[in-house]
Amino acid sequence: MNCVIRTAFAILAFVSLGFAQQQMPSVTTIPPAAQGSPNFNAEAAADAYLALIPAQSKARSNAYFEGGYWLALWDFLYGSGIALLLLQLRWSAAMRNLAEKLTRFRPLQTGFYWAEYLLVTTVLGFPLAVYEGYFREHQYGLATQTFGPWTWDQFKGVLLSLVLGGVLLILLFGVVRRLPRTWWIWGAAVTEVFLIIVVLITPVYLTPIFNTFTLLNDPKITQPILSMARANGIPAREVYEMDASKQTTRISANVSGLGNTMRITLNDNLLRRGSPEEIEAVTAHEMGHYVLNHIYKDLEFDLIVAVAGFAYLRWSLSWCHRRWGAKWDVRGIGDPAVLPLVVLLGSIFFFVLMPVLNTHVRTAEHEADMYGLNASRQPDGLAQAAIHLGEYRKMKPGPVEEWIFFDHPSGYNRILDAMRWKAENLQAN
Ligand SMILES: [Zn+2]
Repeated sequence: MNCVIRTAFAILAFVSLGFAQQQMPSVTTIPPAAQGSPNFNAEAAADAYLALIPAQSKARSNAYFEGGYWLALWDFLYGSGIALLLLQLRWSAAMRNLAEKLTRFRPLQTGFYWAEYLLVTTVLGFPLAVYEGYFREHQYGLATQTFGPWTWDQFKGVLLSLVLGGVLLILLFGVVRRLPRTWWIWGAAVTEVFLIIVVLITPVYLTPIFNTFTLLNDPKITQPILSMARANGIPAREVYEMDASKQTTRISANVSGLGNTMRITLNDNLLRRGSPEEIEAVTAHEMGHYVLNHIYKDLEFDLIVAVAGFAYLRWSLSWCHRRWGAKWDVRGIGDPAVLPLVVLLGSIFFFVLMPVLNTHVRTAEHEADMYGLNASRQPDGLAQAAIHLGEYRKMKPGPVEEWIFFDHPSGYNRILDAMRWKAENLQAN
C-alpha cells in the first residue's frame, strides 16, 4: 500500500511504472541459530538469517537499492530541467495558445493543454524512463518483459494519465479561476475527493489494465488464509492471484480498495517461490493493513499533506509569477501554462518531504508486521519473506539511511522483530 498522493503527483509529472526483479532460491530452511531452543537469542537468530544471503546477492541488492537514492536525485533534477525548459523557451505558453485556438471552451482548453504537456514531457523524459524502468531493471536481472511489451505498458500508463490527470486538472483550474482567494483550500478538498475515487476504482478498474486477476482456488493455500481472516474479523471470502510475473520476479501482496472494492491479492511470484509459512506471514501482514484501517489513515494523512501542499503552492506560485510570469508569458495561476511551474514546485515539496512520507508509510508497515506476526504466528515465514524482499531492498542500512529512504522497515529489522516475537513466544510455551 502506498501513499496515494504521490500516485496523484506521479500522474501529473510523468509516468514510470517501477516494476523490477531478480531471482534467488526460495529459503525454506530455518538456520540452526534461529531454531527454537532454551538458549534462543533473537539477535543471533536474525544474524543467522542474514548470513543465508550469499555475499554476491547482497552486494547486488545493495548496489541496486543505493543506486535508487541517486536516481531519486536525478529524477528530481531531470524533471526540474524539463519544467524550466518549457517555461524559459515559452513552450508552455505556446501549448496554451494552441489549446486556445482549438476551442473557446475553457475546461476543454485545459484538457488540450494537458494532452500537449503530457506528450512533450513523456518524449523528453523517455531516455531516463527507459534507463530506469527497462535497462537498469534488466541489468539487475529484475525484469521479465521484453522492450515491446514494456513500451506497451508505458503507453497504457500515459493514456491513463491523460484521462485521470485531465479530469483532475480541469477541476483544479476551474476552482482556481472561480475562487481566486480560497482556491488552495478547495483545491486540497478536490484533490482529496479525487484520491478517494482513485483508491476506490484502482483494484477494480485500473490495475486490471496492466495485469490479470484470478480467484485463487488452491484450498491448501486459501483455507489457512480464510481461516485467519475469519479469526481476525475480516469479511474476505476469497483471495486473488495476480500475474505479476508478466513484468517482474518480485514477490508481493497487497490489500487495496475501500469497502466493497477491498481485496487481498497475492502475486504469482509469492505463490511460486514462497513456502506455506511465508505465504501465511505475508497475508497476515496484509490483513494487518486492513484491520488497522491503514487505507483510511493514509487518506487522512494525504489530506493533511494536500492542505500543506496547496498552501505552499499558493504562496510560492504567486512569488514566482510576480518575478518571472511576464518572461514566461504565463498570465496567472488560473492559466494552464503555469503547469510546469506547479510540477517544479511540487517536486521540490515532495523531494524535501521524502523522509516524512517514507516514515509515515514505514510506520504503518511496521504495525502491519507486528499484527501479522500475532495473527499468523509464523515468525520464520516473515523472516523468509524479508529475505525474498531483500533481493531488491538493502537488508541492513544505517538508521538515518532507513529513515530517509525506506518505505518499509529494512529486512534486518523485520527479521529482528520476528525473532524477538519468536523468543517471547518460545518462553511463553
Ligand atoms: Zn505492507
